[in-house]
Amino acid sequence: MAVTEPAPAPPLAAHEGILRRQSLRESAARTYARSLPIVPVRARGLTIEGADGRRYLDCLSGAGTLALGHNHPVVLEAIKKVLDSGAPLHVLDLATPVKDAFVTELFSTLPRRFADNARVQFCGPAGTDAVEAAFKLVRAATGRSGLLAFTGAYHGMTAGALAASGGAEDVRVTRLPFPQDYRCPFGIGGEAGARTAARWTENLLDDPKSGTPAPAGMIFEPVQGEGGVNPAPDGWTRRMREITETRSIPLIADEVQTGVGRTGAFWAVEHSGIVPDVMVLSKAIGGSLPLAVVVYRSELDTWQPGAHAGTFRGNQLAMAAGTATLAYVRENGLAERAGVLGSRMLASLRSLAADHPCIGDVRGRGLMIGVEIVDPEARPQGTGTEPPPDPVLAAAVQQECLSRGLIVELGGRYSTVVRLLPPLTLTDEQATAVVDRLADALAAAERSPHRRLPTGSLR
Ligand code: PMP
Repeated sequence: MAVTEPAPAPPLAAHEGILRRQSLRESAARTYARSLPIVPVRARGLTIEGADGRRYLDCLSGAGTLALGHNHPVVLEAIKKVLDSGAPLHVLDLATPVKDAFVTELFSTLPRRFADNARVQFCGPAGTDAVEAAFKLVRAATGRSGLLAFTGAYHGMTAGALAASGGAEDVRVTRLPFPQDYRCPFGIGGEAGARTAARWTENLLDDPKSGTPAPAGMIFEPVQGEGGVNPAPDGWTRRMREITETRSIPLIADEVQTGVGRTGAFWAVEHSGIVPDVMVLSKAIGGSLPLAVVVYRSELDTWQPGAHAGTFRGNQLAMAAGTATLAYVRENGLAERAGVLGSRMLASLRSLAADHPCIGDVRGRGLMIGVEIVDPEARPQGTGTEPPPDPVLAAAVQQECLSRGLIVELGGRYSTVVRLLPPLTLTDEQATAVVDRLADALAAAERSPHRRLPTGSLR
């Protein structure tokens, strides 16, 4: 009897092989790579081209890093200029003309009252490094150790930054309610909800038996990003400034994600007009390359020489790319543009909600936009009156977006907020294409039978 050989497996396309090797060799902790199984090989502006030849509109932008999109000509030119000049690429924290130009440009964009009396410390290259430096700074300056942080916050993955983020526990971090209209913890939302949140904070600091000793600082995001795109109301932000100022508590604005025009102002603290004591900056300031700094009121500069060191604080290419990006955003009014276009996109997305009951909420500021996906047929859980979040449907929306050539991120407490972080160079036509593709993806995901998670199994 003739033995028939099994048919040989068809050869994997190159990109499939790369993805397969990635899943075999890289850590189980990999994140974006799981929900976005693409192999980018070329990119320009809003567009990424995969090794499979498909093109995608990238509304993730390197987690909000690419203010000018991929490979903007001014960024490439700045990088090439450094390379062609023969300048050293690695210089620890030594002075160079490239760094000098970066600091001058950075300070020229910062709120005047802040920049006039500020110091900058270059940190390790990630946002989380600058968060750690900020904590260390305020602890050294105040001699205190506790920190105030907010529910839903995200500040990074190193120990201190993680402890101040929403999902963590740490005895030195006191968690305060962040105001939110949708799913307001006090069940009231709006201005009354924000006022109650501020009152809670004030009371906690003044009650001698609250169990919260005077802290070293308060850290907040002007718009919570990873936490599900929650903009802080301006009145609440001003109140936080007053509360911290009158009690000599340094206020740290984490502008890692909100900075460089993203929210419709160059720095998001400008919306409320407050002047923080410390600003933590990363992502877009490096023009797509790794760079992080902490900038602070000079009175806090009580550090001893070497108090905060690190090998990789002198990335010349990142500084040059960052200088070009900051200047381009400033000279071309891209913050204002983000504000106008963002409002228009929010309005379009809100009008989609009429046809898509799974849209529980649409919120954002500038080009930092979130669409919360809910299960409209399920009963509200716990104390809330809003329909419960629907993580399975949200994941389906993300996949349907991908199959329509649109890259979006999921965020929020249950990974149910579809996040849009397009480059600030987005054109009107591109904005329309993004909303249209998202609308199609919502319709397709709603049609597809998706398994509902049992109540209580939300992550
Ligand atoms: N702070 C905020 C507000 C962030 O959004 C992030 C990153 N998403 C970080 C800090 C940490 O930055 P990194 O991932 O570069 O460490």
